[in-house]
Amino acid sequence: SQLGPQQDGLVISRFGQHADIEDGEQQIHRCNLRRTLGSLVTGDKVAWRPGLDTSHGISGVVEAVHPRTTVLTRPDFYDGVKPVAANIDQIVLVSSVLPELSCHVIDRYLVAAEDVDMPPMIVLNKVDLLTEQERSHAEKLLQRYCDIGYQVLYVSCDTGEGLEELKQAFNNHTSIFVGQSGVGKSSIVNAVMPEVGAVTGAVSDNSGLGQHTTTTARLYHFPSGGSLVDSPGIREFSLWHLAPERVAWCFREFREYLGGCRFRDCKHGTDPGCLIQEAKENGKIHPERLESYHRIMAAMADKPTRHHPNS
Ligand code: GDP
Repeated sequence: SQLGPQQDGLVISRFGQHADIEDGEQQIHRCNLRRTLGSLVTGDKVAWRPGLDTSHGISGVVEAVHPRTTVLTRPDFYDGVKPVAANIDQIVLVSSVLPELSCHVIDRYLVAAEDVDMPPMIVLNKVDLLTEQERSHAEKLLQRYCDIGYQVLYVSCDTGEGLEELKQAFNNHTSIFVGQSGVGKSSIVNAVMPEVGAVTGAVSDNSGLGQHTTTTARLYHFPSGGSLVDSPGIREFSLWHLAPERVAWCFREFREYLGGCRFRDCKHGTDPGCLIQEAKENGKIHPERLESYHRIMAAMADKPTRHHPNS
């Protein structure tokens, strides 16, 4: 078959030996992958050539992957970690008041996000369910994150509160949503991007290769600017692959004290001469953040040596 000139493209979705590549006009082409390509994931920028092989619904071939600025991975039973999405530059951590607002859960996601050096934006969804009093309690709880430089947005898909601000924040970024199941990630996507269904439908499926499975990461463009990578595989990413020394660094307000404790292997618990404890006493570190740190360290000490493939 004949191939056209090489051009740049964006990986919208990858499945097995194929990928959907978007060209400069936002048209999508299902492509074969050159065998020598190496790893290719949603968000990758590639060089590809159009070419027709209509019998299999294939309209091009990916020839090279451009260098990535970032890569998000998930733990993999066989390979340690597996890349899931490339060139993401913003993590949106979604939490909600139902299930109950948990700062410890937020802290776990913050650690994972800091580990990839992407301080996330924190979104508290479903604020319509709060009484005025509960709202001010939630704001008081989340103030600890504002104090250490995170942006916190209050959002309701039901009343529309905060959605305009959220759209603004998506602009000029390739974002990914993380957060526990049920916090409203899909609802937020639907609220800011009702045409997602239409976008998904735009990829014609006359190829017999099957429709996208829900386990495949996929990139969407927001009508108001910016892109979103929706990836079930990474929404609830774990911390097991982190080195224990790294966890303290991932508590961003601990950083300035690290390395200064009296003992080099200070556990930031009861050891004398601990600068983190001292910072807590002086109100520079929130006591519950330090508690979260210890909970994470304790859980990691019990970690399985190998992940179960379905865990
Ligand atoms: P996901 O698992 O994070 O994608 O969560 P979903 O988007 O599926 O939402 C879980 C449930 O929360 C659904 O029943 C939604 O209708 C509900 N929900 C989502 N956003 C809001 C909100 O802003 N207010 C209220 N009251 N319910 C919401």
